Amino acid sequence: MMPSEKTQGAFKKNTSGKRLSTMIMNDYLDLHRRASEGAFVVWIAIIVPAELFGGFENVVYAVPESHAALCAGKGTGPVLCEKAEGFGYSTDLCSYARIDIGTAFDGGRDSPTFGLPRPDLLISNTNNCSLLVKWFDVYHRAWGVPHLALDIPFCYENQKERDFRYIMDQFGTLISTIEEMSGQRFDLDRARESVQLSSEAFKEWKRFLSFAAHRPSGITAFDSFVQMAPILTSRGTRRLVDHYRLLADETAEQVKNGIFPVPDERYRLLWDNIAPWHQLRKMSGRLAGLGANITSASYTYCIGALEGEYDPYEFDGNDPLAWLARLQNFSVCPHGLNLRGKAMNEVIGRNAIDGVVFASNRSCKVYSLMQMDQMRYIREELGIPCVMIDVDHADVRKYSEETAFTRLEALLEMIGA
Ligand code: SF4
Repeated sequence: MMPSEKTQGAFKKNTSGKRLSTMIMNDYLDLHRRASEGAFVVWIAIIVPAELFGGFENVVYAVPESHAALCAGKGTGPVLCEKAEGFGYSTDLCSYARIDIGTAFDGGRDSPTFGLPRPDLLISNTNNCSLLVKWFDVYHRAWGVPHLALDIPFCYENQKERDFRYIMDQFGTLISTIEEMSGQRFDLDRARESVQLSSEAFKEWKRFLSFAAHRPSGITAFDSFVQMAPILTSRGTRRLVDHYRLLADETAEQVKNGIFPVPDERYRLLWDNIAPWHQLRKMSGRLAGLGANITSASYTYCIGALEGEYDPYEFDGNDPLAWLARLQNFSVCPHGLNLRGKAMNEVIGRNAIDGVVFASNRSCKVYSLMQMDQMRYIREELGIPCVMIDVDHADVRKYSEETAFTRLEALLEMIGA
């Protein structure tokens, strides 16, 4: 047995990992239970500020993208995609959308969570991609459920004041729509409490990610992919803060005790794009066998930070809606080249990155579109070796492990040369 395999086994048996599975399972069970007891159910895009729903007495939310990622991680991505394709949806559409449509129109069969409870309101968001608006429109047409699309401008530089105001106005519309439809009153103090808890949770999240700076790294990006799930099921809750605090504490303890995911680490890599959900175990294990660790990922370091930044944007205790509006562009997809480059440059320096893996994603065109230019910048301006591999984040039928590893091994050779 290789030393990395032995230590990896020990690393995986931490309390946070076990607690994560229980937490996610409980979150989905709770969602189904509350929906069946009459809660107002919203389906939201990943970026929609879920903390707002904490301002209502009895509103629950589900994130179809997150549910699709879970299905892909559990191995049911292809069967659910095929169902959507059988209904006539193209294989070129984002695999999250195909998984979700396959789940929704087949009564939740083949989903590890038995699907999602039927929504009362759909809330999409344009700042990641326009496909998502079309995807939610499918349910609007099929079920007659109202669909509210938040129009969030892309950002090629820091958010402009007029964009901030535009977003704030739309939050007002969102709140009054839910009040009208659900008959519940929005309470700003309750929302403030949710925002405070999310801000605390993001701080702990960044503390967990900070162990990627240790040599050898205390984490892998694959840990961060798995551990981001409750941000989409438990946002704005005390249990989310507690979970990430425990996760960061345990990681600190492991580092102190010399337990590392890749103890014989020779190559420290950065991943750019959505997680390859169907490959987490395989890819991390095979890389570890080569002495390589993908320690960091743009997909997870952007969480809780302003556009182009790394450190969390902390809530000042004042207007919770303003904090949420300011953070609407935290994900990488709406960022222009300069913002993407700024954050990546910061992480390369902080975490002593040797090479960057640009994962060109067949599904997520908006994440992948600028990668060629970004790769040129990282290679030529920073002198960091890079490689591009082809993936699909949730449809394993569009991924070739051997082709990807031929390129990954070439990257390691370039770094070693
Ligand atoms: S294309 Fe990308 S941003 Fe759009 S829904 Fe799919 S994964 Fe999300």
